[in-house]
Amino acid sequence: MAWDFSTDPEFQKKLDWVEEFCREEVEPLDYVFPHAVRSPDPVVKAYVRTLQQQVKDQGLWAIFLDEELGGPGFGQLKLGLLNEVIGRYGSAPQLFGAAAPDTGNMEMLAAYGTDEQKARWLTPLINQDMFSAYSMTEPQGGSDPNLFKTYATRDGDEWVINGEKWFTSAGRVADILFVMCTNGMFVVPRQTPGVEIQPEPRNHNHIIYNEVRIPLDHLLGPEDGAKVLAQRRLGGGRIHHAMRTIAQCKLAFDMMCERALSRESHGKIIGEHQMVQEKIADSYAQIRMLRLFVLETAWKIDNTSTQECRTDIAAVKYTMAKVLQDVSATALHILGSLGTTDLTPIQAMYAAAPTMGLADGVDEVHKVTVARNVLKSYRPHEGNWPTEYIPAKRAAAWVKMQPKLDADPALAQAAENYKKYFANRR
Ligand SMILES: Cc1cc2nc3c(=O)[nH]c(=O)nc-3n(C[C@H](O)[C@H](O)[C@H](O)COP(=O)(O)OP(=O)(O)OC[C@H]3O[C@@H](n4cnc5c(N)ncnc54)[C@H](O)[C@@H]3O)c2cc1C
Repeated sequence: MAWDFSTDPEFQKKLDWVEEFCREEVEPLDYVFPHAVRSPDPVVKAYVRTLQQQVKDQGLWAIFLDEELGGPGFGQLKLGLLNEVIGRYGSAPQLFGAAAPDTGNMEMLAAYGTDEQKARWLTPLINQDMFSAYSMTEPQGGSDPNLFKTYATRDGDEWVINGEKWFTSAGRVADILFVMCTNGMFVVPRQTPGVEIQPEPRNHNHIIYNEVRIPLDHLLGPEDGAKVLAQRRLGGGRIHHAMRTIAQCKLAFDMMCERALSRESHGKIIGEHQMVQEKIADSYAQIRMLRLFVLETAWKIDNTSTQECRTDIAAVKYTMAKVLQDVSATALHILGSLGTTDLTPIQAMYAAAPTMGLADGVDEVHKVTVARNVLKSYRPHEGNWPTEYIPAKRAAAWVKMQPKLDADPALAQAAENYKKYFANRR
């Protein structure tokens, strides 16, 4: 029997270690030194390195990378189990060398980079001696890549990039930018003349690429291969986001349950009011369904490929956004006025939840993908009536059973009796 939902004991030990490490080391770090991983302070940096060394000693560094791409090669299912722990803690993905947007960029480099490109960019990215950003979306079009205009022109020994990008997360603090042009994916060092980062927005940057000159070997993968590279990058990224979203949903759920047992109203603990119970029961089921869907998809990726799982990855993408929006709203509601403040994580989680429906592609586009792919395995029915049209099915069943009825008069009589009985009931 291969259908097994258990975690192997050896890996469970790793998960237990991760859980304890996050609780004992990562959570305090997040409160005392927010954004420590990017801190320019050498003392903080050195402290972060000691924590990261512990992760490396456990063989848990850069866990998202497959073995053939230079990582530990846990595969997506184990990664899912790890991410549903570390996704609860702000800086944990960075402490495990597995934070977006670097992860997706590293995947592209690992899959498409030359040895020289890997040595120049992948190794420093894995070691966090370098950080990166991903420049794809443009001001005039996000969901539809056919509207992108940024273009690289070849001029002697250089590519010259011109265009405008919007919402490049952490572009301002990146060392290198992966720039999706209509004719290829390019790696651009941020300090290159012509990279003009606009003052707003602060975190997800608006960048003008104005006559940006880079050497020929800064093209990643084949010329005109940008869409293939982008798919590779985003496919993996979406399922990783979903894994971490389970952790966020669990955090919201823990908070709502604790509060439901702690507050009293109209003579009862609020968790004893049926309308609160219904919310808890619905959230519980939603999170369980999301988790199973994400882990099953991860398992399928391990057994096939990201490409073959694109329908499920797309469905996971909008499902996680919906579950996070529902569960965080419910948790905020159950926490009452406290939930609306920034004194607990729930308000920020609730406020950020709608972004999950936009980042990595808007929900509508993924729903179109799912519906289109699903419909490919169906055919229209012939004539006016659907396959499940009962009068037609009944007539066909009589035809099918006729030889048996002909051979058995008692069965034929029973069938006639049934027919009469049901006809009279109408
Ligand atoms: C937190 C966050 C981080 C991001 N980080 C990056 C990054 O690092 N690099 C980067 O390049 N981009 C990044 N993005 C941008 C992201 O890729 C885009 O937001 C996304 O592709 C949607 O594009 P848009 O925002 O222009 O929305 P639009 O394309 O303008 O869509 C707006 C709305 O129009 C509707 N719509 C659009 N298309 C369809 C359709 N086909 N069918 C039905 N309805 C439709 C939907 O309601 C949609 O929500 C990030 C976004 C967020 C929110």
